[in-house]
Amino acid sequence: MPELHAKLSSSASKRWLGCPGSVKLSEHYPNGSSIYADEGTIAHGMAEGMISKDDKLVQKYEVEAAKFYGEHPELNGTFLEMKMILQPYVDYVFEEYAAQVHEDEAAQLMTEERVDLTEYIPGGFGTSDVVILRQGRLHIIDLKYGKGVAVSAQDNPQLKLYALGTLARFDMLYDIEDVVMTIYQPRLDNVSTDTIKAKDLYAWGEEVIKPGAQLALSEDAPVHAGDWCQFCPARYDCKERARDAMELQKYLGQMVLSPEEIAEILGKIDRLVKFAEDIKDSALTKALDGEEIPGWKVVEGRSNRKYVGSEEEIVRQCEGAGYDQALLYERKLLTITNMEKLMGKKQFAEVLGAYVEKPEGKPTLAPESDKRPAITNNSAAEDFADED
Ligand code: SF4
Repeated sequence: MPELHAKLSSSASKRWLGCPGSVKLSEHYPNGSSIYADEGTIAHGMAEGMISKDDKLVQKYEVEAAKFYGEHPELNGTFLEMKMILQPYVDYVFEEYAAQVHEDEAAQLMTEERVDLTEYIPGGFGTSDVVILRQGRLHIIDLKYGKGVAVSAQDNPQLKLYALGTLARFDMLYDIEDVVMTIYQPRLDNVSTDTIKAKDLYAWGEEVIKPGAQLALSEDAPVHAGDWCQFCPARYDCKERARDAMELQKYLGQMVLSPEEIAEILGKIDRLVKFAEDIKDSALTKALDGEEIPGWKVVEGRSNRKYVGSEEEIVRQCEGAGYDQALLYERKLLTITNMEKLMGKKQFAEVLGAYVEKPEGKPTLAPESDKRPAITNNSAAEDFADED
């Protein structure tokens, strides 16, 4: 069943490990690409060219990026900006490589290493963006070009699979003991690293991945909803996801929620919101396609007025009516993000570093596992006492 096996991709491993039944359920849904995924593919190609110092490859992806941004003006990007965004990642790779060469002058740097995972997953494979090897140590670095959500390297199955395949391939030559895994997300300044012993990574492959893959490929694989649902091809119609969202109905008929019950609801809120958005989006798509959603219809939404005609024409009209051109335009200082884009990070820091501050963020709830320190009423009170 090659087409089924191909569905156990490393990038979807969190989903098929969490919800083995999603593999079968997703079979009939298209697993289309998105413009963000396409942008990421171009960025990976450009980064590979920059790291391997292959000017032809860089130029090839400059042309692709220019064409891509020309077709998607809504992304407001340029190939030059992409290169600028990737530079700190490239610097990080070279710094890390130099540090390893310092430890072992035979250290090696590789890019886009395709690794075989068939020992653990039927038909499985993966690609490590960057591999840095030296005697006793393997470091894989994964570039994430997205800026939607910061991705953590901690216990990340996708990253562990790439590391496992790379480890199995090079262990004989480098006698690897420690495996370091890093996610570098340049657009969020997110650099997240996890470390694991090689023997523990092998054990994870045997004890978690092998049985997990077999279960996911079995006919009666169970379905379980979780955070992984948001990227599942079956997410719009899956009843298990709806059951999970509706589970909070158990509190109906109760007058007051306890702190424990509020904590349980908080833990599910992001999932609930995503579920609600997906249901609204898919119902609209179905209704527009002519499918009947009982009790619902498609109507025209609210819209705002907009100018039609060219800017020159509009200005001419206004001047004809006696308005000076200076009155027709608003002059605004560029936002910090756009100013930084204009100058580049380094010059921005030099020129405006002293004129930028990051005020304290508004108190917000986060799970105990969040790495930010907790703020309490006591710490707020102490701040006031200090000011007195
Ligand atoms: S939507 Fe969630 S519960 Fe349903 S099949 Fe996909 S991953 Fe499993």
